[in-house]
Amino acid sequence: MEFAEKKRAILEFKACDHCLGRQFHSKIKAPNELIGAAVRKSRSIKEATRLAEKGRLPAMDGKECMLCGGLFIRIPEAISSIKRSTSGLEYSTFLMGCRIPAALMENEEKLFSKIGMDGVESIKREVNRLIGKEITKETGKAADFKSPDLNIVHDFSRNSTEVQVNPLFIYGRYQKLERGLPQTKWPCSSCMGRGCKECGNTGKQYKETVEDLVASVVLAETGGKDTKFHGHGREDKDARMLGEGRPFILEVDKPVRRDIDWKKLEKAINDKFAKKIRITGLRPSGKEEVVIIKTITFDKCYRALVKCESPPSKEELKKLEGLAGMEISQKTPTRVLHRRADKVRVRKIKSIKCRPTKKPDEFECEITAEAGTYIKELITGDFGRTIPSFAGITGKNCECKELDVMDIIEIKK
Ligand SMILES: [Zn+2]
Ligand SMILES: [Zn+2]
Repeated sequence: MEFAEKKRAILEFKACDHCLGRQFHSKIKAPNELIGAAVRKSRSIKEATRLAEKGRLPAMDGKECMLCGGLFIRIPEAISSIKRSTSGLEYSTFLMGCRIPAALMENEEKLFSKIGMDGVESIKREVNRLIGKEITKETGKAADFKSPDLNIVHDFSRNSTEVQVNPLFIYGRYQKLERGLPQTKWPCSSCMGRGCKECGNTGKQYKETVEDLVASVVLAETGGKDTKFHGHGREDKDARMLGEGRPFILEVDKPVRRDIDWKKLEKAINDKFAKKIRITGLRPSGKEEVVIIKTITFDKCYRALVKCESPPSKEELKKLEGLAGMEISQKTPTRVLHRRADKVRVRKIKSIKCRPTKKPDEFECEITAEAGTYIKELITGDFGRTIPSFAGITGKNCECKELDVMDIIEIKK
């Protein structure tokens, strides 16, 4: 569209300098209101560019303007409202958004249908940019378009600000030193978490979980409302988790404080639950890493204490060690069949070492296997659903008395 024609179409909306200049935003390098003042006096884009480059910022009013209704002079008011709404919240990044009165948005649409959107900056974009810049200048907080700590939305119709506090993600590794501790909180199966007699009104199926222990300290420290626990896989409730510990990310809902002393937090958790869990390597994380932690593959190293119906011979233990390098076929274990689909998984046993113990009918073994191998079933055979198995190879009933995860080995591809 020709310059004069475009200018005429915009001025039909009694455009102020801001709104006039915004329609030429990426055509001339200057603040919108300067571009607008220059365009108003010019007959060509060339002339306007020259004027804008040496121009001085015009005084603003714009109450007559049908595109902004004088909204730009209300920006300082919006900034005060935003500062009130975010006071007391710790954050370092934010994303600015705004709601513009519907009548103004309709006028902008009408204008765009006439002049197109080439080189244009929309009113929302300009307002967000101006407010964002000012907030950064006054508070030192940075704009972040991907994963901000806060989403700030200012509503110009009501002159009110809404602040959405985004979750805080904390990465760490946990060791579980006590058996019988599930990894994540679980709603009571009788009341589905509402609270009943069975669960003593806690709504919890288990009194304590790794998540509960970690979260109790983290929530007190951050002022958050709730947590989600993202583990790098999980061990059975009655298995310990030893070695370097299992990676996890704790997602904290609506934190008030984010400026955390990680070493101090780690120590607070470890001091409080010294017999039960041990946490290492706490650091800030993000939602992108949750996806990574859920999808990377890993081998696991286990220690199992196996009880046999009669003492196994040396030859039998040697035969078991022969499983190293073999693939085993496992149908879904009968103990989880009620909640998981029945299918066959093939998993590789990487290494296996057996040692006798003082009790002749018990032996200890260290097994490294691919992620998702069911170790208890490898031992018992699970009524022939896992092949081969310890029971199948020895021809004796075998039982897993104790199971510990000794290490989690990430596989670098
Ligand atoms: Zn305007
Ligand atoms: Zn209950």
